[in-house]
Amino acid sequence: MSAMDPRLSDLALRPFWYEDLPPAPEFLEPPPPRADVAIVGSGYTGLNCALETARGGRTTVVLEAGEPGCGCSTKNGGQVGTGIKPSLEDLARRYGRERARAIRAAGRESLEWLAQRLEGEGISCDFRRCGRIVAAHSPEHYGILAEEARRLAAEGEEVALVPRSEQRRELATDAYFGALLLPRHAALHPAKYHRGLLERAIAAGARIVARAPVTRIERDRGGFLLETPRGRLRAREVAIATNGYTGHLVPWLQRRVVPVESSMIATEELPPELVASLFPTGRVVSDRRRIVWYFRPSPDGKRILFGGRVSARAIAPIVAAGRLRARLCQLFPDLEPFRISHFWSGAVAWSFDELPHIGRHEGLWYALGYCGSGVALASWLGSRLGLQILGREEGETAFDGLPHPTRPFYSGTPWFLPAVVALYRFLDEYDRRRTMRRHST
Ligand SMILES: Cc1cc2nc3c(=O)[nH]c(=O)nc-3n(C[C@H](O)[C@H](O)[C@H](O)COP(=O)(O)OP(=O)(O)OC[C@H]3O[C@@H](n4cnc5c(N)ncnc54)[C@H](O)[C@@H]3O)c2cc1C
Repeated sequence: MSAMDPRLSDLALRPFWYEDLPPAPEFLEPPPPRADVAIVGSGYTGLNCALETARGGRTTVVLEAGEPGCGCSTKNGGQVGTGIKPSLEDLARRYGRERARAIRAAGRESLEWLAQRLEGEGISCDFRRCGRIVAAHSPEHYGILAEEARRLAAEGEEVALVPRSEQRRELATDAYFGALLLPRHAALHPAKYHRGLLERAIAAGARIVARAPVTRIERDRGGFLLETPRGRLRAREVAIATNGYTGHLVPWLQRRVVPVESSMIATEELPPELVASLFPTGRVVSDRRRIVWYFRPSPDGKRILFGGRVSARAIAPIVAAGRLRARLCQLFPDLEPFRISHFWSGAVAWSFDELPHIGRHEGLWYALGYCGSGVALASWLGSRLGLQILGREEGETAFDGLPHPTRPFYSGTPWFLPAVVALYRFLDEYDRRRTMRRHST
């Protein structure tokens, strides 16, 4: 594959999701001199928080470094799941059985809550309860998924197993060895969801200030003073909602999240019958390799959207898009002749204990660390954060007061990431080739 590959010519370096969206207002008014609540970051966390505080009668200002939603919240894969990575057993060892159950239940609650929120707010964003397939990349991994299915069922989650012999009813590939099916998981159009949320937050009275990176926060007369290049704002309460874009503004938080880039491609418009034949049930899909791949049909059923972590170090978009295309065609060789139309990336935030965190540090509220699964969790925790700021009991969560770990010598620059990603990529490829050799028919 060379950079001249005609299937990558005319590659648009922007999210495919933006094609469907009318331009948003620019929000270029400077910040007002004061507010009850200032929120840093305008993604799902920040806007859901703003919706609660504005409706709770607090003057609310959302300060955003770029355009509203320019972080992950308009760029993601739109897969809506329960999002809690550690198992019940793992969490029980750390925090005891009761807290572990509550944390797992919170993941399920976030998914159901988001479905209700969208309906209650009348936000139309192609939300569909299509179900998610977690595909097994080896027979051994199918055994692990079978065990996971048993555990999830015991927790009360709807789940089913799809053996390899029946896999083609779900997904037209032989690259996997069966799958776990989570029927309650869903899909949406992330940018339409964000736009709906933005409109609701503004209608509730929240003020949005774009292109206003907060460069400094200091204590001031019982509240805080926030500085941006476009003006200062005094606020009684401040919420940090910066997730994978958390910089040195609050060094304590920066030391607790690892920014990890994830990238996506969209194919050109395909014959609809081809997409329908590759995804006969129209579900969203992810696997559980060390470097996860995730994919789905677009909401209009005309394209395939495919994503993952492409490389250990920063590489040119056209090279990254070529790598994603190669992976996609490994799964679906029928896609070989088709062009890739869009490529884009964003930064998710990993935490050292693989859990999201909500809390307060030196008076600053925050919610972040969704470990790549934030559509439901960031929305739900953003809303809980707003309720906590209002002092409401409904804001309490199973994550309150959990230890929030960092690591020695980690200041927010993940120097170890290239080595870890390179190793994971090598091991994934080694596993793939070994599995192919053993099971080639
Ligand atoms: C390619 C990709 C695919 C993904 N796919 C999925 C998926 O399918 N399902 C899923 O559940 N999750 C997915 N995610 C993750 C999900 O999108 C995020 O977890 C979620 O959007 C986080 O929302 P947020 O509001 O916390 O952060 P963001 O939406 O990232 O917003 C943070 C904002 O803070 C702003 N900011 C930072 N610093 C400052 C400052 N100093 N001053 C002002 N503003 C500041 C940034 O500009 C940014 O807009 C994906 C992410 C990516 C990148």
